Amino acid sequence: MTTSGRTPDYQRLTYLFMCTDPVHVGTGGYRLGRVDNSIVRDPGTNVPKIPGSSLHGAARAYAASVLNRPSCAGQGNPKRNDTRQNGQSGHCGVCPVCYTFGYSKNTDDQSAYSGTVNVFDAEILLFPVHSLEGPVWITTKSRLERLSGAEMASLSQPEHEESVIPLFETTENILTLGWLVLAIQPQNPEEAVGQLPGTLPEQIANHIVLVHENLFSNIVNSNLEIRTSVAINPERGAAEDGALFTYEAIPRTTILAADVVIDDYHQLHSPDNGTAACINPQEVLEGGLRLISWLGVGGMGTRGFGRMEMLEQPEPEHYRQEETDD
Ligand SMILES: [Zn+2]
Repeated sequence: MTTSGRTPDYQRLTYLFMCTDPVHVGTGGYRLGRVDNSIVRDPGTNVPKIPGSSLHGAARAYAASVLNRPSCAGQGNPKRNDTRQNGQSGHCGVCPVCYTFGYSKNTDDQSAYSGTVNVFDAEILLFPVHSLEGPVWITTKSRLERLSGAEMASLSQPEHEESVIPLFETTENILTLGWLVLAIQPQNPEEAVGQLPGTLPEQIANHIVLVHENLFSNIVNSNLEIRTSVAINPERGAAEDGALFTYEAIPRTTILAADVVIDDYHQLHSPDNGTAACINPQEVLEGGLRLISWLGVGGMGTRGFGRMEMLEQPEPEHYRQEETDD
């Protein structure tokens, strides 16, 4: 796939995920007025997202587990005094996990390296909402184009905030989305539907509704999964008094996309200690990302939260400095 001895070859991959559980990546704090444990949102749009750092952390932990490098999971960088028998602690610095995700070693020559993969935030592209016609997945034109990886010149936008464009046949002229009643704007969406990724489940692909850009964040935020739970006192094994708390999550069947850029500038990892002859960071990353469908990402994992399925293995897009066309 890559040849050695070349100038830098950046690869960009877009991974599509479907939540198979509600996903809660918390802000780690409290927000007044809505829920006790809120999730991370994009500051500009207020749309919830999964931070790249959470995906990177989960992928690293699972890749380390699959490759049997437990000491190379986690953040490394242990306390200065916490050294193990061989005087070394933290990441090993030479294995596929460290090469792919970076390392931070606490050795005599204190070293750190940022790794070959950059994982960016996962953004919501399709979001499930209850309607009188059954579940529909809302999106916007820009999100649909990102999902398809193609421009959709012939597809209109909803003209007003009060109008929607279903990408499926319907005889109705209104659509109720939760508590909203919106007018259906007629459109022939065949071209758009034909460009959707083939790995998208049919139930979702056949029930997509285009909403106005201004409305997307509002609809998403009013249809998040909100659960109430109670904190347990570990000594008594019973509920704490007044310990009821609420938390929000991105609901099951939400479709998200995350970009990854791989800067594999060593091309072939040079083995210092014989542990790795040839490392493909994309394979290491994907080995980790795939386990999110078993082990989840974010918080509340013990309450059945966090699993996401990778929908397809993307084709890398290459960027080469010395070339002007592609
Ligand atoms: Zn390592």
